[in-house]
Amino acid sequence: MDVVPLLDWGDNSHFDARTTRPCCLCGKPTPMRSHADEAVHKVCAEEWNATRPNEARRYTPPAPGRAQHDVGTWRFHNDGPTTAHLRAPAVTRDTPQRPAPAGAGGQGDLFAA
Ligand SMILES: [Zn+2]
Repeated sequence: MDVVPLLDWGDNSHFDARTTRPCCLCGKPTPMRSHADEAVHKVCAEEWNATRPNEARRYTPPAPGRAQHDVGTWRFHNDGPTTAHLRAPAVTRDTPQRPAPAGAGGQGDLFAA
């Protein structure tokens, strides 16, 4: 089995000592909170990230001499600086543009079967 990357949630904003709420993933009570204040166990968030490789990811900001690295998904990610301003572009279908036929005025093939 692959190793599940652990989230760095050392910031105390991830812990609500006053209230437990049902985890949004497993339903059991938890004092833990995501960055978006979702009630979620840290292990549930890590498992959610690990089982969704195609989910939009966040990365550390670019820095000279240091490669960017994955810090989790947009939903559940590490504390610290992330590439908040560099949201991954939406996936779109690649629709190649056909060049207009030479000498046809660009409209010649619109009615072609
Ligand atoms: Zn849970």
